[in-house]
Amino acid sequence: MASDLRLKARQTVLGRKSRKCNIPSNEQGKFLKVSQYYGDNVYNYHLSKTLSLEDKDNLKKVIEGTATVTRELATKVANSVMDWAISKGATHFCHWFQPLTGSTAEKHDAFLDFDNDRPIERLSASQLMQGEPDASSFPNGGSRATFEARGYTTWDLTSPIFIKESPNGKTLVIPTAFVSYHGDALDTKTPLLRSDLKINEVVTKFCNIIGMNDVKRVITTCGIEQEYFLIDKAFYFGRQDIVMTGRALFGSLTSRNQQLEDHYFGMIEDRVLAYMQEVEIELYKLGIPAKTRHNEVAPGQFELAPIFKDSNVASDNNQMIMTILRTVALKHDFVCLLHEKPFAGVNGSGKHLNWSMSTDTGVNLLEPGQNPHENFRFLAVLATVTEAVFRHQDMMRMGIASHSNDHRLGANEAPPSIMSVFLGDTLNMIVQAIISGSAYVASDKKFLDLGARQLANLAKDNTDRNRTSPFAFTGNKFEFRACGSSASPGYPLSILNAAVCDVFEETNAFLEGEIASGRSVNDALSALSKKWYTHAKNIIFNGDGYSEEWRKEAEKRGLTNHRTTPEAISVLKDSAKTNFLVQTGIFKEGEIETRHNVMLERYIKCRDIELRTLRGMVLKQVLPVAVDYKGALAKNIANLKASGVDHSLETELLTDLSALSKSLFEQVTKMTEVLDQLHHGSDEEKTARVIAQELMPQSVQIASLCNQIEEIVPDEAWPVPKFYDMLFIR
Ligand code: ADP
Ligand code: MG
Repeated sequence: MASDLRLKARQTVLGRKSRKCNIPSNEQGKFLKVSQYYGDNVYNYHLSKTLSLEDKDNLKKVIEGTATVTRELATKVANSVMDWAISKGATHFCHWFQPLTGSTAEKHDAFLDFDNDRPIERLSASQLMQGEPDASSFPNGGSRATFEARGYTTWDLTSPIFIKESPNGKTLVIPTAFVSYHGDALDTKTPLLRSDLKINEVVTKFCNIIGMNDVKRVITTCGIEQEYFLIDKAFYFGRQDIVMTGRALFGSLTSRNQQLEDHYFGMIEDRVLAYMQEVEIELYKLGIPAKTRHNEVAPGQFELAPIFKDSNVASDNNQMIMTILRTVALKHDFVCLLHEKPFAGVNGSGKHLNWSMSTDTGVNLLEPGQNPHENFRFLAVLATVTEAVFRHQDMMRMGIASHSNDHRLGANEAPPSIMSVFLGDTLNMIVQAIISGSAYVASDKKFLDLGARQLANLAKDNTDRNRTSPFAFTGNKFEFRACGSSASPGYPLSILNAAVCDVFEETNAFLEGEIASGRSVNDALSALSKKWYTHAKNIIFNGDGYSEEWRKEAEKRGLTNHRTTPEAISVLKDSAKTNFLVQTGIFKEGEIETRHNVMLERYIKCRDIELRTLRGMVLKQVLPVAVDYKGALAKNIANLKASGVDHSLETELLTDLSALSKSLFEQVTKMTEVLDQLHHGSDEEKTARVIAQELMPQSVQIASLCNQIEEIVPDEAWPVPKFYDMLFIR
């Protein structure tokens, strides 16, 4: 972007108006209430006129995992789905899946078919149930020989089928799992579904052991807060780095960023609100219950949170939320950035996974109860989850590792790369009392004596909010805050579930033993809590996770701190640490290797793109401007000298700029040499390490030099949109 283009972009942006969209309304043009059109584009088998009551009952059982689908039932459902889709105007269907690229994929087919020569619409049971996309174009991490290109998508009955609208037609979208010919998961959904089954098995058993005999099913629930940035489209296309990598590879901070804390929960500007409203309308039609919208901490940063659902559907919904945030943004001449750290020095974006477990009898197992027994149960579940995070902290860190999240974790304003569990002051005091076996005195001086089983009315401690914890208990659920904004939630969720299942199996065995030896259920739960809290106490941390003291303290406690992705994913090569993933049946051994290879390859590729983009921008955009300005200064100095006028200012500027540009050029040359050499090697782990440990710190220095040059050259000469443009002009 030549500099005048940047100034023109500013003009364009200043002339933008809020976009009006089509608000769902009736024939008289009266706006519908959300409840009147919510879920309009979602297939609801309960409303089907062709399925019998018995069919619906059978389908319900299949969805709940207590029966398998028969071809006969699938045929009936396929017909019902197709009738519905065609009545809504859909012409195509697609299998929608979540390959290891981290985004979603879809292959469309028309309903069009022929009955003899007569064109008809058709969706067969086998088309509904299985697809066969060419798997060779998706990351498979070597789990499949290249000649074996077959991969299968299989219908996930537990996630609703929906219709996606686009300007010139509609497509029926069938959520599917994506597996290889040999049944290996090539996606993020399959392990998540397996983890749901395992949670159901072990936690239902737990409930039954402690006397909740009516519990037949347990699910994990998840509410996913999504943070994002909006910048104007005109600026976006002026920044190659943001287009290519999702983030600004350099850029000088403005004087006012977020220190006034005036953006968080501040008034939402009209143009942004209009965007949010259109996003919500689209989400409501898809049955996605968008609930919360607000400005986030950084200028230009926002958040959307839906009401929680079961984890698998919440995870699918989050993929649609990301898609809709992006596509609707373009209609409003915005670009939605889902990258974890689009602007260095400004707050990054997370995806907070609020997580709990819930029984089919309606009990949230992380809800402190009203009576002593409920509280013993609550404390035991909390203890089991705490032990799970403690024991599998490396895996939890691995599950959120990506090149983009590296910029956020460990930086000063995001949950650190050290896993810890925040419980809040009240709970922490109770836990400490359990560990030491002493009585706990509540702050309101109501005596809660654990020994005498008087633990009643654990008040929800709403004052306990901790933004710095990667895994915080927030009253009746955990909030896994360290997950990155662009990530597929299915992956960290399946790791978390696996960790929890692993410990719950021991919890169950322990409780059975205690009860068999004559202890009461509450005593057994109490002993269990003591066991896990004592064992896992080092993972509990209620202080400031951003502080340097915590880093030191965590090291003393023996907690691991994997600062970069190459370090974090190396645990996938340690079978002692991955064993539980296989034992719980959530990952197969080969799949773990696949994930390691895919994550490693992705890290290298994404970093390579970043480093080369940075090099290109420095050589073609930053240095030419610096050279021009140097020329202008030199000319000025000559003129001033000739006229005998003081030229000390110009000389100083010229000297500074010369030194900065020279070292910028040197640094980029050095970086390119290392980068080119790296690609001759075949050891990918080493390549990734060199990138993380040498090239990334070097790229930070390069960015800093660019920023210093940006601060010297005249504003109108700067060749790319500045942070000021992108964060403040809307
Ligand atoms: P915050 O104050 O952390 O920003 P939000 O209201 O933005 O909270 O988001 C909280 C999220 O947690 C919502 O998606 C909400 O539906 C979800 N949530 C509430 N209860 C549960 C639960 N039992 N299990 C999972 N998620 C839950
Ligand atoms: Mg929130």
